[in-house]
Amino acid sequence: MNEYDSSRMVDLMQEAYGLRLVADPADADVILMNTCSVREKAEEKVYSELGRYRLIKEERPDLIIGVGGCVAQQEGERIMQRAPFVDMVFGPQSYHKLPEMVKQVRRDRVQLTETDMPEIEKFDHLPKAGKTGHSAFVTIMEGCDKFCTFCVVPYTRGPELSRPVADVLDECRDLLARGAVEITLLGQNVNGYLGLSPDGEEWDFTMLLYAVAELDGLIRLRFTTSHPMEMSDGLVDAFAEIPQLMPYLHLPVQSGSNRVLKAMHRGHTREQYLDMIVRLRKACPGIALSSDFIVGFPGETDTDFEDTLALVRQVEFDSAYCFKYSPRPGTPAASVEDGVPDVVKDERLQRLLALMRESSHARYRRQVGKMAHVLVEKTSRTDGDMQGRTPDFKIVHFEGNARQTGRVLPVKIIRAYGQSLRGEQVLNHDG
Ligand code: SAH
Ligand code: SF4
Repeated sequence: MNEYDSSRMVDLMQEAYGLRLVADPADADVILMNTCSVREKAEEKVYSELGRYRLIKEERPDLIIGVGGCVAQQEGERIMQRAPFVDMVFGPQSYHKLPEMVKQVRRDRVQLTETDMPEIEKFDHLPKAGKTGHSAFVTIMEGCDKFCTFCVVPYTRGPELSRPVADVLDECRDLLARGAVEITLLGQNVNGYLGLSPDGEEWDFTMLLYAVAELDGLIRLRFTTSHPMEMSDGLVDAFAEIPQLMPYLHLPVQSGSNRVLKAMHRGHTREQYLDMIVRLRKACPGIALSSDFIVGFPGETDTDFEDTLALVRQVEFDSAYCFKYSPRPGTPAASVEDGVPDVVKDERLQRLLALMRESSHARYRRQVGKMAHVLVEKTSRTDGDMQGRTPDFKIVHFEGNARQTGRVLPVKIIRAYGQSLRGEQVLNHDG
C-alpha cells in the first residue's frame, strides 16, 4: 500500500512540476519520505534517515524535504520540532495536496503540516497513474474500522472509505489499455469494500471482483489484504468461479488461540478460521495461503502460543509474515501491563519461523514436477535468468529472454528452494 502511495506521489510531482525520480537523494530537488508505523522503531528510523538528508540540505538550502505516511500522521508537528529542516509533514490521506504544499514552501519558505483526514476523496485529485508495468495495483478502499487492539492503522489511516465502482473500473481499464495484464486490488480490508455503483446501488467486494474480471485484457486478478471476518460465501465461491482470480489468498490470522484472538478483538475464533480454510480449499483445491502472525501479544501464555503452532501445522501455509508484538501509541493493548518478556517473544518468534519454514518448504517441494503458467516479470537480479510468478504467487526462475516479459508461459518446475522455484520452459508454448 505504501509503495502504491509512493508511486502516486511520483505521478503527482511529475504532473505538477515535471519532476522525475532520481536514484541518489543528493541529486534531488525534493525529497519525500513515505513512512509506516505499524510496528515499532519506525519513528527512530525516520529520524536517522532524516539526519542524512539534513547534510544534503546544508549544502543546498533550496532542497525541499517532506515526511509523509503514517509516522507523519502520528507525529505531526513533532517531526519539525525534532528536525527543524523538514519543510512538509503530510498524512496518508492528504498527499494529494503535495503540489500545492510544494508551491507554498517554494514561495514563502514556510513549514507546512497536513494531517487532516479530509472527507473528500483524495483520489479525485490524483492524476492518472504514470508508467505501468505488466502487474499493476489499484487501491479500492482506504482505512480501517476494525480497531484490533494492537493496531495503529485505524488511527493513522482513518475510517474505512471505499472508492466508487466506476472510479475503480476506470482506473483498471486505463492500466489495462497501457499494458497491464495483472491487477491487484488493494486495501486494508478489501473484502469490507462497499462502493457506490453508477446506478446508485452499493456493491460489495465480490460484485466488484466479477466486474473487474470481465475487463478486456485482464489475465490475472489478485487482492490484498482481506479480513477473515468478512470472507463471505460468495467470495469463497469466486475462487472457483472467476478464472482470472488467481489461487492465492493472504488471510491474516495473527494467533491460533481463542483467548488471544478475543483479546485482539479479531472478531472470529480459531475454529471459524479453520472452517474458512476448509471451504476455500474445497472451492479451490490448489489455493496457496499466506498469513500474518503476532507473537508475544500481552498475556499470551505458552499454551496460547502452542495453539498458534498447532494451527500452523494444521493449515500448512505457503508463506507468512511473523512479527514480535510491539506496543503502538494510543492502542488499547499498549496500556496493558502484563507484557511478554522480550526473550520469550524472541524465542517464540524463532520457533514459529522454523515451523513456518518447514511448512512452506513442503508446499514448495510439492510443485516439483508440475507444470505452471508463469507470468514473466523481469530479468532476475541474481543470475540473469528470467523471473516470474506462478498463479499461486510463487517466484520462478528459468532460462528465457527479456522479450518474454509480460507474457504467460508454461514452465515445468524442476526444483524448489526456500522461497522460490526453478523451472524449465516448455517448448511449443501458447504464450
Ligand atoms: N489489515 C490487515 C493488517 C494490516 S497491518 C489485517 O487485518 O490483517 C499488517 C500486519 O502487521 C498485521 O497483520 C499484524 O500481523 C502486524 N502488526 C500490526 N500491528 C502490530 C503490532 N502492534 N505489533 C506487531 N505486529 C503488528
Ligand atoms: Fe489493523 Fe485490525 Fe484494521 Fe487490520 S483489521 S488494519 S490489523 S485494525
